[in-house]
Amino acid sequence: MNTTKHNWTKEEILALYNKPLMDLLFESASIHRTHHDPNVVQVSTLISIKTGGCSEDCGYCPQAARYDTKVEGNDLMSVPHVKAQALRAKASGSSRVCMGAAWRNVKDGSEFDQVLEMVRTINKLDMEVCCTLGMLTENQAHRLAEAGLYAYNHNLDTSEEFYKEVISTRGFEDRLQTINNVRKTNITVCSGGIIGMGESIEDRAEMLVTLSNLNPQPESVPINALVAVEGTPMENQKPIEIWEMIRMVATTRIVMPETQVRLSAGRTEINREGQAMCFFAGANSIFAGDKLLTTPNPDVNEDMKMFELLGLKPQKPFEKGLQPKTVEAEDSQLHALGEKPKWSRPGHTIERNVEVSLKGK
Ligand code: SF4
Repeated sequence: MNTTKHNWTKEEILALYNKPLMDLLFESASIHRTHHDPNVVQVSTLISIKTGGCSEDCGYCPQAARYDTKVEGNDLMSVPHVKAQALRAKASGSSRVCMGAAWRNVKDGSEFDQVLEMVRTINKLDMEVCCTLGMLTENQAHRLAEAGLYAYNHNLDTSEEFYKEVISTRGFEDRLQTINNVRKTNITVCSGGIIGMGESIEDRAEMLVTLSNLNPQPESVPINALVAVEGTPMENQKPIEIWEMIRMVATTRIVMPETQVRLSAGRTEINREGQAMCFFAGANSIFAGDKLLTTPNPDVNEDMKMFELLGLKPQKPFEKGLQPKTVEAEDSQLHALGEKPKWSRPGHTIERNVEVSLKGK
């Protein structure tokens, strides 16, 4: 029987989040065991295929060109380079490769064609392929699906209300539109957020309302803890307490029982005991590799030691869904439409972003 509910309210989610911790953990761990093997964790490797120089003003992001951070940008990686990294990831136990490009949105043309070739190449290695490339049209989503893309990541980041305090160069509704475009294909949706940006618990609950009330719910929900990077508007933000992470993971697990809940950025700040609590609370996916796009991540060997200690096993590829078929470029029925969608540019002022970008000049 499918017990997934799609009409969660903020009040219901807050009541879960604020439960006595032992009650919250008991409930989330019980739900986790009903829907997943509690000793299996999916391992993904993130490859930054195009780093830095981004036109957006996401207040947490060291890749935004307007902030003076130590990120060194690069052009789009070559297909053989990406393939070599994917093979390394596979050898070290990853079942999924997630390719991230610091773009506002996907543009039809040679660079997108190159990304499609990367998708084909990695799918043929029998690994799940995910991309995070910014906003996407429906036609672009279909082209990615045809190449063999398994998942598309597009985070909501936070609540609609607090979103206006984080980003001014695009709107919350654009995020939803991209998710909607991905949903018109067989690609699975990966969408989550970041905690510790100065948002309230209500904002966290609101974000979970939006995600859990999507029908179907995202197959994957990353929960990131802000990594406050020097030079970004959020550089002085205090790190969150581990208890907030555990509560967020547990609440996410309860409201999205089938979803893979992913421990993402900020994991270096969590010791093994804390991570074990997160797995118990319902997290069943991590990113491996020493870097998450541009911020630090635990060493792969450290992760494998932790898996051994906790008796965890990495999930095999395509255990939760079928491997997509790859259509070669020359056999493709789809082509670039050269659309120029009107993604919004709200342009409201976010003081802390303005101050930091002026300092960076
Ligand atoms: S989060 Fe993505 S869109 Fe925002 S500034 Fe960073 S790279 Fe650009």
